Amino acid sequence: MSPQATTQPLRVGIIGAGISGLTNYIALIELDNVQISIYEQAQELKEIGASIGLGPNGLRGLQRLGVHAALNDRLGIRNPSTWPMIYKHWKTNAVLGYDTHQDVPDRLHHTARFHRAHLQKVLLDAIPKSVIHLKKRSVGLEPDHDSVTINFEDGTSVTQDLVVVSDGIHSAIRQQLLPDHKNFLTGWTSFRAVYDVSLLERFRDSQEVEIPTEALHYVGPDRTFFTTPLGGNLIAVVGGYAAAQATDNEQWNVASADHRQKFMNLYKVSKTKHPAGRLQAKNKQHWAPTVRALIETAPSVRSYPGHSGSIARQWVFNSRIVLTGDAAHPIGHAGFGAGMAIDDALALFMALERIQLSSETKGTVLENALNLFQSVRKPHADRLGDFLARTGKAKSIYGKHLSEEQILEWVNGRENTAWIHEHDVNVAFGLADALSL
Ligand SMILES: Cc1cc2nc3c(=O)[nH]c(=O)nc-3n(C[C@H](O)[C@H](O)[C@H](O)COP(=O)(O)OP(=O)(O)OC[C@H]3O[C@@H](n4cnc5c(N)ncnc54)[C@H](O)[C@@H]3O)c2cc1C
Repeated sequence: MSPQATTQPLRVGIIGAGISGLTNYIALIELDNVQISIYEQAQELKEIGASIGLGPNGLRGLQRLGVHAALNDRLGIRNPSTWPMIYKHWKTNAVLGYDTHQDVPDRLHHTARFHRAHLQKVLLDAIPKSVIHLKKRSVGLEPDHDSVTINFEDGTSVTQDLVVVSDGIHSAIRQQLLPDHKNFLTGWTSFRAVYDVSLLERFRDSQEVEIPTEALHYVGPDRTFFTTPLGGNLIAVVGGYAAAQATDNEQWNVASADHRQKFMNLYKVSKTKHPAGRLQAKNKQHWAPTVRALIETAPSVRSYPGHSGSIARQWVFNSRIVLTGDAAHPIGHAGFGAGMAIDDALALFMALERIQLSSETKGTVLENALNLFQSVRKPHADRLGDFLARTGKAKSIYGKHLSEEQILEWVNGRENTAWIHEHDVNVAFGLADALSL
């Protein structure tokens, strides 16, 4: 009989059933002698109707976690060209440049784009329904020497040996643990739509409108536009505008006819800089017919004012509480958050795998493992936070009026982000582990 069989399992409570909470469960359930429950505030698990991209790190991570269905070609769409992103001219449709994968020999690990609900479903399929407790909004944690009690809004509570906080960008638990932490509006509000690609059939023979088969990033003088095919014969379109932070009153994840009209207006004409440097009304130019057709066809458009925050300065509390996902690094809006959450789950598994787990595992032992997890992940998250602050991703074009030359400079001058999308959490774990000896 194994030593674990004589001891009570380590009780793990995960707060939040987003990509972070779900992948944490799938990773940690592989540990010996654990009993894991997920507590989610929502009444039912449904994703926002938007697209999500996973880079090689996220896809390798899901493969390692055994979520093979996520790598299915029908669920996530990879660019046939093998370039993960193609940059196009806003008006002429000409290709201006493209990103490349650096070290991704297996095509299944090439960046793939999903409908969020499809990705959520394959994660949920890997988890028994009975361990997910819905309508359990956590309102606070009460740690003591040997355990942590999670209190819920409905007046109930549950006591666990380890609590993994995965309650997202607006984490209430992070706010309790780090009261001075603040999120902010990025000033970039996006309009997003996902619809069936068959709605574009009427353009099949068009000379002007191209039905996209790859992820395309159109770059214009004062904004960009993104479109990509998704699994399940869907297509996503994303655009937006820079809003004055204090005056942006768009609601989050709300669809309205008004949004569709605003979205169309944003991509009708743009002002370009006159060669002499002046902005003139006569320099207004039309966006490519493809862009306008893709927006006009969207049956429904939703708005998403961007939120962000600094990387939480501490991820481990009272030896038994750890932050993961957007709760730890609230920068998911930049398009890296899902892969980051998956890497968190793998690193947390690797850190806990090396200790004997039971309800009697001492706080000091757990704390060492959690600190190792933090030392693997936080430097990477900090580097990403610095990168985003430096490049001002959300605002680099918006509100400006780039000339044709400046548009080309923008495309050619973009930074290589392979260190983010192709991050190898195993290597990072090995390095942090060696340093901790
Ligand atoms: C519009 C949009 C587009 C994005 N596109 C991309 C992309 O293309 N690529 C990418 O990698 N990332 C993208 N991201 C970011 C990515 O979705 C997140 O970083 C990632 O899903 C990790 O989220 P999470 O699980 O930490 O948080 P969430 O997905 O927010 O999940 C948190 C969960 O916790 C629950 N919860 C919250 N508070 C409580 C509480 N008090 N008690 C119990 N439960 C609670 C919530 O209901 C939710 O289910 C995008 C984000 C947005 C908003």
